[in-house]
Amino acid sequence: MNGEPCPQLTGVVMNPRKGLVLIVEDDPNIAALQRLYLERDGYRTETAADGPAGFEAVARLAPAAVVLDVGLPGMDGVTLCRRLRERGDWTPVLLVTARGDEADRILGLELGADDYLTKPFSPGELVARVNAVLRRGGRTAAVAAVHAVGGLRVDPVRHTVHVDGVPVEFTALELGLLAHLLEHRGQVFTRAQLLDRVWGDSAHRDQRVVDVYVSQIRAKLGGASPIRTVRGVGYSASGEPG
Ligand code: CA
Repeated sequence: MNGEPCPQLTGVVMNPRKGLVLIVEDDPNIAALQRLYLERDGYRTETAADGPAGFEAVARLAPAAVVLDVGLPGMDGVTLCRRLRERGDWTPVLLVTARGDEADRILGLELGADDYLTKPFSPGELVARVNAVLRRGGRTAAVAAVHAVGGLRVDPVRHTVHVDGVPVEFTALELGLLAHLLEHRGQVFTRAQLLDRVWGDSAHRDQRVVDVYVSQIRAKLGGASPIRTVRGVGYSASGEPG
């Protein structure tokens, strides 16, 4: 699956600090472009051309992140992502969707993808999104505090959320958003600020994605959710269940 190096990359010194990105994409032209963009930015890459091969490659290669096409033969990207999460694999996933495929996008985020990218995308967009999902992972791990509000307990290092002792499954981004609000309890954030601080950038983004995440978190936590809507401004977390 590891093809010939792109001729454009000859002589490029790879940055050894950047990790391995697995590209799951059935269109060889798009896969080659993604490899080029990411390798030029210092990532190592591997590719898989269908869903089952991609699913197997995540376990075998333990990549730092996965760039995952939605429309794939064998198993679509949304299903692949869901199956990864079901087996407890929280490798950051950047979902690549066709333009205007809102349903796939939202469904993908609900099923545990960390972010999405819409085709066609620019090299800068792809690299920025991959950098952002990895930065978020690193930042989450660096936050040592365990947040407790009422029966809710959020541990960003162990990636666990419990309500009254019962574990609740959270995606990396859901946990990042909740932990950020809890870390700055009482402070009100606008949607743009949350995109900057939790997603890592607010450019080219629909701010409603923040609302989608907040409603997912509320649906998972029910009455234990500490997130309050501040009308006309944004969101904050209170010290009491909301
Ligand atoms: Ca495809």
